[in-house]
Amino acid sequence: MDFNLPEDLREVQGTVRAFMLDVVEPRAHEIEATNSVPPELLRGAADLGLFGLSIPEEYGGVGLSALGRCAAYEALGQGHMGFGGVISAHASIGTSGLVRLGTEEQKRRFLPRMATGECVAGFAITEPSSGSDAANIRTRAEKRGDVYVLNGTKHYISNAPIAGLLTVIAVTDPAQGTRGMSAFLVEPQRTPGVSIGKIDEKMGQKGALSAEVIFQDAEIPAANLLGPEHLGYREALGILTNGRVGIAARSTGAMQRLLDLSVAHAQTREQFGQPIGEFQAVQFMLAEMEIAIQTSRLLWQKVAWMVDQGQDVRRMASVAKYHATEMLSQVADRAVQVAGGMGYMKDSPVERYYRDQRLLRIYEGTSEIQKLIIARSLLA
Ligand SMILES: Cc1cc2nc3c(=O)[nH]c(=O)nc-3n(C[C@H](O)[C@H](O)[C@H](O)COP(=O)(O)OP(=O)(O)OC[C@H]3O[C@@H](n4cnc5c(N)ncnc54)[C@H](O)[C@@H]3O)c2cc1C
Repeated sequence: MDFNLPEDLREVQGTVRAFMLDVVEPRAHEIEATNSVPPELLRGAADLGLFGLSIPEEYGGVGLSALGRCAAYEALGQGHMGFGGVISAHASIGTSGLVRLGTEEQKRRFLPRMATGECVAGFAITEPSSGSDAANIRTRAEKRGDVYVLNGTKHYISNAPIAGLLTVIAVTDPAQGTRGMSAFLVEPQRTPGVSIGKIDEKMGQKGALSAEVIFQDAEIPAANLLGPEHLGYREALGILTNGRVGIAARSTGAMQRLLDLSVAHAQTREQFGQPIGEFQAVQFMLAEMEIAIQTSRLLWQKVAWMVDQGQDVRRMASVAKYHATEMLSQVADRAVQVAGGMGYMKDSPVERYYRDQRLLRIYEGTSEIQKLIIARSLLA
C-alpha cells in the first residue's frame, strides 16, 4: 500500500491551496462584508479549472478521478469556506448527475459552459416540508406531451441565485413513492415559471448564496429528463453519496488550516513569560487536532479510492462525512480556545471558520442521517 498521493495530484493540491491562501483569502473581509464573491475570483477559479474538476476533458473539464477531485477539495477547504462552497456545490452535486447520467446531447449542451464557470450549477431536492425525509418531496412533474410541467417549492438551494442549471428532483408518479421520482435539468434563468425566492440570510459561508426555487407551471422539455424516468430518487442518493466524500475532504482541509493557524499562534503568543505552546494544556489541543486530521484524511482517501475502483461506497461515504464534519466542529472549537479572545473577533479567520464549518454537519445529510445510513447498512 502506498499512502502518498501521486505527484500530479500533489501538484493540483499545491496550486489550489496557493490560490485559496494567496488570492482568495486576502479578499475574505470583502466577501464577508458584501456576502458576495468578487467576479474576478470566480474567473480565477475558472482559469484554474475548478469549475471543471469533475467534467471529463472531452467536454472541456479537467476530468479528475475521485481521488484527484477530493485532493482538490481538501486544498479548497484551506481557504474561505463560502468561496469553497460555491465551487463544491457546482463541481460536486451540481455536476455529477449530468456527467454520470446525461445523454450525449445533454452533456454537449451544458458541460462545456459549466467547465468554464459560465454556467454555474446546483442541485435541488430539499423542500420546506421534506429535508432529511427526502423521500417525501412534493414538487410535482406532470408529463404533458413533450414537456413536464413542474409545480412546487425547493428551499435552501446552494448557488440558486446564480445558477444557470439545476438538477431538480420531482415526483413523476405519486402512486409509486420513491420509485415515482425523476431528475430534470432546469435552466432557472431561462425557464418561464421558475423563480428564485429571497436569498437566505445565513450564519456563515458568506458569498455562497442559497435560496428558494419556486416552480409555477414551469414547462421543462422532455429532452431535459436526466436519467431514466421514475428513478430520480435512486439517482439523487447517488449524487449525494458522491458529494459526501467531497465534504469529508473539504473538512480535512479546513481542519488543517485551523491547526496551522493554531500552531503559529501557540509558537508566538507569550503568557507567563513563555509561548503558550509550552503549556501541556495547549499542546494537547494541538495533538487532538492532528489526530482528527489524520483520521479524516485517511477516510476520504480510502473512500475516493473505492469510488475510483467502482466499489459501492454508500456506507463508507457516510462514515467519512460523519467523522470529518464532527471532527471539524471539535477542531474549530479548539482553535478558538487556543487563539483566546482573538479567536472570538470578527477579523480572525478562526472566528469565521467556527461559523462556516457548522453547515457541514447539516447539508448533504445531517450527522444523524449519516448514522442511520451506516446502521441500516450494517443491519441489512
Ligand atoms: C446553507 C444550506 C445549503 C443547502 N444546500 C442545499 C442544496 O444545494 N440542495 C438541496 O437539495 N438541499 C440543500 N440544503 C438542505 C439540507 O440538505 C437540509 O437542510 C438537510 O438535509 C436537513 O434537512 P432539514 O433542514 O429539513 O432538517 P430536518 O430534516 O427537519 O432535521 C432536523 C433535525 O432532526 C434530525 N432528524 C430528522 N430525521 C431524523 C431521523 N429519522 N432520525 C434522527 N434524526 C432525525 C436531523 O438530523 C436534524 O438534527 C442546504 C441547507 C443549508 C442550510
